[in-house]
Order: sequence, then structure tokens, then C-alpha cells
Amino acid sequence: MNTKILKIDDYSLKYSKNLIEAKELVAFPTETVYGLGALATSDEAVKKIYEAKGRPSDNPLIVHVHKNYDISSLVFIEHGYVKKLQEAFLPGPLTMVYKSKGVVCNTVSCGLDTLAIRVPSSKEAQMFLEYVDAPIAAPSANVSKHTSPVTSEHVFNDLNGKINLILDGGKCEGGIESTVLDVTTETPIILRSGLITCQMIKEVVGKCEYASGVSEIVNRSPGTKYSHYMPKCQTALFTLDSLQDAQNYYDECVKQGKRTYFLCYDGVLKYLNGNVLNLGKTATEIASNLYFNLLEAEKICDVLIAIEVKTGSEIDVSIMNRLSKACKSAIK
Ligand code: AMP
Ligand code: MG
Repeated sequence: MNTKILKIDDYSLKYSKNLIEAKELVAFPTETVYGLGALATSDEAVKKIYEAKGRPSDNPLIVHVHKNYDISSLVFIEHGYVKKLQEAFLPGPLTMVYKSKGVVCNTVSCGLDTLAIRVPSSKEAQMFLEYVDAPIAAPSANVSKHTSPVTSEHVFNDLNGKINLILDGGKCEGGIESTVLDVTTETPIILRSGLITCQMIKEVVGKCEYASGVSEIVNRSPGTKYSHYMPKCQTALFTLDSLQDAQNYYDECVKQGKRTYFLCYDGVLKYLNGNVLNLGKTATEIASNLYFNLLEAEKICDVLIAIEVKTGSEIDVSIMNRLSKACKSAIK
């Protein structure tokens, strides 16, 4: 199969609609990361996502719809606060998990009676979803466990030959996946942190909690148990209070002739001496640059030495959730 990368225009939109209706896969940009889309009402189409990614079959998918799509045709809205959240944050990087009406196929939610839905805000995602005008199941457009893609080139590098079309919308601005929020409960529960934070949700509806404990998170959101986001180079993660150890490890790797880089944010640059992939200053900037830099690292490094991110923002939690999984293999 020949994988095409096309800018979004009348031709590529028409082509993508034809592919989706033919139960094929289309990768498309969103404001978080690139998604790998399939028609959510077709079991045959959704299965192709799992095959192309090598995704475990118990890791449910998020359904994406355009901003005028009637979400209540797919799910039950059980609590009054949900409307407020929809008004405040949609379209945007907030996925909500509802009780499903069973309209999309079972494979999407891996047999759970819930359905995760997101309305992405990026112009390109909206154009694609409006043109197709159907619920689109879409995980990140990478091979399972690898770093999520934030450019069409990243998607191509992982899925070349496995999918027909990548819609190109440049670099994704948000840079990490959406917040996943369970709204089937009295109090909304964060299953995966993202750019929409607990505090932001509390400001709108007065209540929000993080799922507590690993087993609760895994039970409610099976995908969270898998390793994720790993670049194809050796990695190590150091905390802020072990910067000297990080420097020693760096020096040791360089001595062994390994191409070595630090991955860190502005605030710690002055404490380190060596090659740096700089994530930037603010938490939103760091999130936006995170996967891009992890994927740069695998081109230029043998060893990537990541440093804990602590800017004082609540988004640090989401960044560290991704970074500690990406560099899990060698936490120092
Ligand atoms: P990905 O699409 O790879 O970014 O991952 C989707 C995330 O959403 C995973 O963490 C899933 O566990 C979670 N998710 C998707 N559908 C559901 C659902 N019905 N209930 C709980 N979590 C879900
Ligand atoms: Mg993913």
C-alpha cells in the first residue's frame, strides 16, 4: 500500500470521506496529536486500527465528532454538570466518558458499556470530521507503545505502507493527548490528565477528582496500564534533586562514545553541561514540545537523559505522566 500525505483541500477531503466510507483508515491532525481514524460504526474498520497500530485489544478508543454533531445520539448524559463542561471546554482537548447508547460498534469500547467522545478544536480536524459527518474512532496515529506523532512525517515514519492517507496539518500545537474525564459519576473523575486540568474543571462545575490508585484507574480506563510514548533510543529520567547524578551519567555516556543529550526545560539549563534538547519555559510550551523532542532524540541520540519537569503549573502532572512512561525503561 502506498501511503499518501496530502494537505487538506477539497480533493483530500473527498478522498478521505471515500476511504472512511470504504472502511479504510485515515490519519488526521488535531490540536493534541495526530489521530488514526476509522468509521466508528463499522467493526471491520475499527479492527483495522488495532491491526495497524499493534494495539492491545482491551485498550478502548476515543470517538471524535465535529462541533455540530449531536453527542446525545451516541450516549446518555446522566449528570447536570456535563452540559456545563461541554459548554466550557468543547471543542477542545477534553474527552468525556459517557454511558453508551450502543450506536457505535462494540470494538470501539472493547465491550465496556461506556463511550469516550471528543470534539477536537483544530480547524483541520473539524474540516475532516464535518466533511465525513460520522463518528470517527481515533487513537494516536503511532505504532503502539511508540511516542505519539505531532507531525505528518512522524505518522509516516510509523505507519507507512499500513494506511492509505495522512492529512497534513503541520505541527500539533497542544502536543500531548486530551484529558480523559469520566462523567458517569456524581463527581467527574480524571482518568488521564491533559491540558484541561482538575482545577479548570472545578472552576466550572465546583467538583472534580483524580482517579485514585493504580487499580481504580486501570479498571476504569484499561489503556492506562500499558507502556507508552517510548522513543527508540536509550533513555533515563532523573529527578530535580539528582541533577548531579544526571550530569555524572551524561559524562559517563559521553566517555563511552555515545551520542548523549539532556531533555530538559529552561529552568534547569544552568545546572547542566552538555548537549540539550530544550523543552522551553512554560508548562504549555513544554507539553507542546515534548513528543516532538522525544522523536527528534531518536534521530540524533544514543542516550537521552530526561530531567523532571516542575514549573509550578498543574499541567506538570500531565507532562510527568507522559515523560515517566516514555523514559520508564531506565528511571534513575
Ligand atoms: P489513545 O487513543 O491512545 O490516546 O488512548 C485513549 C485513552 O482513552 C486510553 O487511556 C483509554 O483507556 C481511554 N478510554 C477510551 N475509551 C474509554 C472508555 N470507554 N472508558 C474509559 N477510558 C477510555
Ligand atoms: Mg496513544
